Amino acid sequence: MIRIAEIFHSIQGEGILAGTPSVFVRVSGCNLRCRWCDTEYASWQPEGESRSVAELLREVLGYNCPYVVITGGEPFLFAELTELCQSLHQAGRHITIETAGTIYREVVCDLLSLSPKLSNSTPWYREAGRFAQQHEQRRIQPEVLRRLLARYTEVQLKFVIEEPRDLQEVQELLAQLPPVPRERILLMPQGVTSEELRERGSWLVEACKQHGYRYCPRLHIELFGNRRGV
Ligand code: SF4
Repeated sequence: MIRIAEIFHSIQGEGILAGTPSVFVRVSGCNLRCRWCDTEYASWQPEGESRSVAELLREVLGYNCPYVVITGGEPFLFAELTELCQSLHQAGRHITIETAGTIYREVVCDLLSLSPKLSNSTPWYREAGRFAQQHEQRRIQPEVLRRLLARYTEVQLKFVIEEPRDLQEVQELLAQLPPVPRERILLMPQGVTSEELRERGSWLVEACKQHGYRYCPRLHIELFGNRRGV
């Protein structure tokens, strides 16, 4: 069984497949607690029922959409992901998995979207900081990231950037990992309104130009705002 927060049909808003119509399977439950998490109903206050792989397959395949994105929460928390991905693959679906890269798991997947969390994510002042230490210990696992990068060939590395100084952390982490092509390293502004994205995007684009990283939009925020099911 996999606890599911929501399943919906939309376009991929982030990453190298941005703009691609996709079915999203959002698992509920996360081993991190990012301060700015925009899906708290799958992390801080996980919601949703546990569902069988057979049931999930029926619903996902019913959309008749070639692209499936498994997101969260943290998909790699669930061992049944292996069976779900295998079945989706057999049904001819292109599978993207979006993970923070703190847990190693081998599954069939066409694009592994790794989003290691920088220190700007640590919730020092939320709920009296009760998740902060645990989050800080878990958020970056270089050995897990190295194993994932060795196992999966189709990858993107996506970083949520809040301030220019975050770039230094990105560079320090990349120095601990095997080389990843620059166009597969994506910098995404933190923000859940078009105004925030525009403000941070203006200087982040310059950083991308300077270092050769790829700028990562958040199309779903720009098109639909920060709400569920889009
Ligand atoms: S890893 Fe993702 S789902 Fe989990 S708390 Fe952070 S932003 Fe939210």
